[in-house]
Amino acid sequence: MLSVAAALAIVLEQARPRSPVVMPLSPDMLGLVLAEDVVSDLDMPPFDKAMMDGFALRSSDLRDGRAELTIVEEIPAGKTPTVEVKSGQASRIMTGAPIPQGVDAVVMIERCEIAGQNVRVNEPRAKPRMNILERAKEMRVGEVVLRSGARLGPAEFGLLAAVGHTRVHVQPAPRVAVLSTGDEIVDPEQKPGPGQIRNSNGAMLLAQVARAGGVPRFCGIARDEPTHLRDMIAAGLQADVLILSGGVSAGKLDLVPGVLAELGVEALFHKVAMKPGKPILFGVKGREPEAQARESVAALAGASGSERSTPCLVFGLPGNPVSSMVGFELFVRPALRALIKLDPNACWVKARLTKDFPYRTDRPTYHPARLQMADAGWTVEPTPWFGSPDLRGVQPANAFALLPEGDHPHPAGETLMVLRVDND
Ligand code: AMP
Ligand code: MG
Repeated sequence: MLSVAAALAIVLEQARPRSPVVMPLSPDMLGLVLAEDVVSDLDMPPFDKAMMDGFALRSSDLRDGRAELTIVEEIPAGKTPTVEVKSGQASRIMTGAPIPQGVDAVVMIERCEIAGQNVRVNEPRAKPRMNILERAKEMRVGEVVLRSGARLGPAEFGLLAAVGHTRVHVQPAPRVAVLSTGDEIVDPEQKPGPGQIRNSNGAMLLAQVARAGGVPRFCGIARDEPTHLRDMIAAGLQADVLILSGGVSAGKLDLVPGVLAELGVEALFHKVAMKPGKPILFGVKGREPEAQARESVAALAGASGSERSTPCLVFGLPGNPVSSMVGFELFVRPALRALIKLDPNACWVKARLTKDFPYRTDRPTYHPARLQMADAGWTVEPTPWFGSPDLRGVQPANAFALLPEGDHPHPAGETLMVLRVDND
């Protein structure tokens, strides 16, 4: 059976980023990756500016830091100074205001005493350039301030705004359709009748998509009936990524693999050596011929490699909630990260077991666990859990510890590989 590593390699081979798009500078871009170099359109700061409230003066006027000077102007932030400061003079200045002509230092207001039209200064540490932020100290006009590939967080937002770059090329967040399947599954707003259960996977997977940087869309609950299932899957295939839960194993009413094949989805694997969630399907749906034609026109027009549009990636996850969750974290999340040009494997850490945890399993098992940073590094403690239907057992966890197949004592202090699920 295919190993998780081999299966992931197959997924990542297909997860090619789409062409960049232009977005207005807004929080919707948070966490996306910049797809252009950004150049400053001005010097920052654009003028020599005061870093303190106080008095702008000539440091050569001070004797042992003292002088009594005549106040010639008051310069609030946002005003341009009009008067040159001469020897024996000073201008009152506010933080952020431009430095007037003739001045080489600002003495903070706490070291000044105003006496009518004069100011008495007492600043023994005064020296040239004191409390003046020189023009272009942070950036020069024409300088590249952000490189393509930067992840957009608060500092990048602030820099984009500072240089007036409000229409930004980014790697688009993939649109991800989530489809639940199963005759027994009812909407969470309903009270389940006999034999029915609520659709917990839908809500869970939508949240996982959002946390992984995708744009989630719920497609509904498909019945275990070929025509209905086909219509709903066909709609879901319009997205960049389609996630199905349930109906993917070998039962009589596990119709998903057959319907996907009918719809032209090429299955690249259907079983992975892992627990929970062995029956897991990954496939790709190529684009329609007309889209392919558009692509070749784009290629003739000199479009770059990344311009090639990608097929819809299809993940059929098993229905048990924890199987769905683990399948998402192991395969879908890395794929979404790759699509937005983030490192797909950044979510693994090594951690030391805090207590003995003897465990026997016939397949590599991803066990819910609590990962914590301690003085000596990461520690991990498996949480009580009875298996793939036990979503409650996962709730206190923030990670999955990988327990290799076989019968192992796993003594306290042993190092395990752990998949974080609470980071981005
Ligand atoms: P399946 O993979 O369709 O054979 O489903 C395996 C188990 O997961 C069954 O007990 C289902 O009832 C359950 N299950 C399937 N889909 C969901 C869902 N959307 N929410 C919660 N449980 C589900
Ligand atoms: Mg089912």
